[in-house]
Amino acid sequence: MLTASVFSSPLNLHKLIGRVAEEVDRKRRDIVQILKDLIRFRSINPYLAGGEKSEELDCQHYIAEFLQCLGWEVELWEPDSKSLGEKYAGTPGYVPGHAFDQRPNLLAKSPGTTSRPGILLTGHIDVVPATEEGWDYPPFEAVEQQGKIYGRGAVDMKGGIAAMLGALAAIKSSGIGMPPGIWFSTVVDEEAGGMGTLALVDHVIDQQLPIGAAILGEPTGLAVAPLSRGILWGEIVIKGRSGHIEVKQPHWRNGGAVDAIQKMLKVCKAIEWLNDEWSKAPGKSHPLLPRPCRIEVAQIAGGHSPTSFAEECRITINVQYLPSERDEAGGGGKVRREIESFIRGFAKLDSWLKETPPVFDWLIDADSYEIDPSHPFVKLCMQGMGLVGLSAHLRGVETHTDAGRLGCDADIPTVILGPGETRLAHQVNERLATTQLCNAAKAYAAIILLSLYGPSLRG
Ligand SMILES: [Zn+2]
Repeated sequence: MLTASVFSSPLNLHKLIGRVAEEVDRKRRDIVQILKDLIRFRSINPYLAGGEKSEELDCQHYIAEFLQCLGWEVELWEPDSKSLGEKYAGTPGYVPGHAFDQRPNLLAKSPGTTSRPGILLTGHIDVVPATEEGWDYPPFEAVEQQGKIYGRGAVDMKGGIAAMLGALAAIKSSGIGMPPGIWFSTVVDEEAGGMGTLALVDHVIDQQLPIGAAILGEPTGLAVAPLSRGILWGEIVIKGRSGHIEVKQPHWRNGGAVDAIQKMLKVCKAIEWLNDEWSKAPGKSHPLLPRPCRIEVAQIAGGHSPTSFAEECRITINVQYLPSERDEAGGGGKVRREIESFIRGFAKLDSWLKETPPVFDWLIDADSYEIDPSHPFVKLCMQGMGLVGLSAHLRGVETHTDAGRLGCDADIPTVILGPGETRLAHQVNERLATTQLCNAAKAYAAIILLSLYGPSLRG
């Protein structure tokens, strides 16, 4: 293996990065095969799987063997929900009741030691189910068609993991050898709350592992993403009063029926009005995101019979928020209060709702993440992209990611960067272009080598 002194000239380092990028091209079929192998594990998150046995364990064993063949030390462990609960209950990433039997996290380290803090490549191996109608190819067969691999997880996010593994294999076989100071992790349970990454971060903090920066390989279309949004899920419930729908009703004060659906439609209109305000409010927009934060009505339910006014109506809302809106605990408390106070104020305009106000039940607060785009690690990622001939651009991720656990809890500068378009995640015909997969492997290899041998991340 080459020693660090070989990399001391930037020119040498850049040449070696070029050599690894060529190696990625030579290994293209192997990298595509890794993605196909990963997709074929039905590693559906068991909390979403409707009783189907999840193959998370087999998927983790495959990755462990792959890394062991590269000479890495690999650790697999089942997170301990009880002890995580004692430390993290009530904080982002902790999901009460989730268990991890046969669902290990994986953490691995390249051989050897170095005095410099290393880089962590990380992602999740669980996927959402593929029960949608209309798949052109079976979602767990990883069919390749016209330069694209089809399958559940191709984008979210086995593509990112395959590209990371491909980058590591290419570094080794390019003749550089395997440098010390590279960490790799795949976690479970991201798709149902993020407790896998919470367990990883707890482990990193507990063991004081020397990790100086992290790449989270969620799909960004290979944009360098220093930001992901916070997401709230909540229910709003309105009570009405049942009564025969075909019969003229007296005023509600005289015992008449109240249609909860009609009242809820008014609330939905009010939400649209608030969205309009948010679209003009500077605090709800971010230059790296394509649209302002919104409150979306995702589900609606009400009524129990075609002959009765609905006595209850409930909606489930999805609310996006920005890191600049975080509360003291790092979550979306301020935004929750903003929405509640707006809707309560609106409800006072209606005599029934004034006396029977809407009830709020907040279900999920998936926190946000942001790192300064001028941070040396963000710049290093941009430089790495450029060195392998890829256009480097910044973009925020519109959804939640686990980056907050790494960046906020473990204080590891983290960038989200991965192949595939976010809009294809969780969709029918989820697919990834093999060109983008290999470009991601080149980008990861360049970023790894720059972070290990380039200028210090501390500036
Ligand atoms: Zn994901």
